Amino acid sequence: MVVEMFPPYPPELSPTQLSYLLQALTDYSLSHGLTVRPAESFIPDKLSSNGAFATHAPITLFPSPFPRSCWEEGRAVQKDFNELYARVAGNEEWLEKTMVELSKVDDFTERLYKVHLDVKAEGFVQPLSLGLFRSDYILHNIAPEDPKVLPVIHQVEFNTIASSFGALSTRVSELHRHLARVGAYPPDSIIKAENIPVSPALQELAKGLAVAYKAYGSGGDGRSTAVLMIIQPGDKNIFDQRWLEYELLEKHSVQTYRISLTDVPKLTDLAPGTRALIYSPPHVPNTQIEISTVYFRAGYGPGDYAGEDEWTARTTLERSKAIKCPSVITQLAGAKKIQQVLAIDGVVEGFLADKSVSSRVRGTFAAIHPLDESPAGVAARKLALEKPDTYVLKPQREGGGNNIYRGDIPGFLKSIPESRWSGYILMELIEPPALENTIIRNGGLMSGGVIGELGVYGAILWKDGEGEERGKGLKEIVMNEEAGWLLRTKGKQSDEGGVAAGFGSVDAVLLV
Ligand code: ADP
Ligand code: MG
Ligand code: MG
Repeated sequence: MVVEMFPPYPPELSPTQLSYLLQALTDYSLSHGLTVRPAESFIPDKLSSNGAFATHAPITLFPSPFPRSCWEEGRAVQKDFNELYARVAGNEEWLEKTMVELSKVDDFTERLYKVHLDVKAEGFVQPLSLGLFRSDYILHNIAPEDPKVLPVIHQVEFNTIASSFGALSTRVSELHRHLARVGAYPPDSIIKAENIPVSPALQELAKGLAVAYKAYGSGGDGRSTAVLMIIQPGDKNIFDQRWLEYELLEKHSVQTYRISLTDVPKLTDLAPGTRALIYSPPHVPNTQIEISTVYFRAGYGPGDYAGEDEWTARTTLERSKAIKCPSVITQLAGAKKIQQVLAIDGVVEGFLADKSVSSRVRGTFAAIHPLDESPAGVAARKLALEKPDTYVLKPQREGGGNNIYRGDIPGFLKSIPESRWSGYILMELIEPPALENTIIRNGGLMSGGVIGELGVYGAILWKDGEGEERGKGLKEIVMNEEAGWLLRTKGKQSDEGGVAAGFGSVDAVLLV
């Protein structure tokens, strides 16, 4: 039986209504910076672009209906998740076993963990860490046979590095709200401006960076301080990053510089003794800026480390006195393998003493299995090979496009040595209620069944122990906030939902 979780949606549009809506949507998006750089193939040959072309981000024509209770639940649990992952990152003894095991089967994890261990051996000089996290959820039907029973949220993954689309989530919710206000949607539809809340992610994430900036204090030797954003050269999602930079400057008087990992060795130095991170902006001769906060929008995947220069860069940043967003160990705490280990009975409960808190966190978990040689792992290996149709197989990677789905799982596993299987986790596919929308991407419209993924942002600043106490559990939470939300919507036929990876679009919630 078909589950009708939402009223028939989206509303039908006449050709006149559609062309009015498209024009309003395009003009609003372009004039409000709901934009991305287009792929080269979308820029006419005869024009030398110099980056001067922008297009609106992939967006949905309509906001997507989303149960208010599920949206509230995701937001309400965010501070608990922030704390959970900060506590995981701060407990190195607990992380060690998983990291050592993972290092044997995953070269990228091994290399990152080595950076952490090398810096630890020397000693950290900055006890503060900043997390700008995003917890992602898909709606899950708990009673598919009864349309009156609301779905719940199930966590897809927890991101501890480079959680993107915060600024665009603010802009797209403003867009859909605007379209509702100007009557671009049929007046008898359920789309009403008051049910489209504007996500404050842009403001809240910038505030998180500003709090860390302040907590760092003033620079040494009279140097002024700034934020350093580590970026991928040519990132098409640049405006999402630029908005944070502008917000930081305009609301908090904090300057941001952008630099790739490759350029870190050329343009930065560590001050002797203090290990203050000194940045020399190439466009301002003879100037030395002390970096208070390093904000990574790169460095989450092997592709960002073309050679030794990039690894040296990551090590230098980690050794520095700057507050890292995130530190290497915090990045590692966001591994899919850690998500699986946390889901084992009693593990989350060990990190979050309050039972009502840990049970709220656990309430969002979907089934996740290890693929190692433990009894649970052996059972999951059998499932993966024999009944893969309701599962997704995930490696320890970020950024979309890395997972293996359903029937592809057995063949994939057989194509790699069995000794490497433990580097993957097997997760139950979350099956959301049916929903339709239209996605507009590079000028093309795609209408049909869609799947939405709610991301809730969090900002947390914490203090680890110093000296011998480092890694033995976090000492103090300085700030912990829920920081807005994002809805990403993809075609139902596509397994992956990444917007930047080319699969999805940004969307706003229409609370129902
Ligand atoms: P990444 O870190 O690469 O973003 P994710 O775990 O978020 O990895 O997986 C990428 C995409 O795959 C998600 O955005 C979602 O669309 C899909 N996906 C992942 N896990 C599940 C799941 N358990 N059920 C349904 N879809 C999933
Ligand atoms: Mg991720
Ligand atoms: Mg993801």
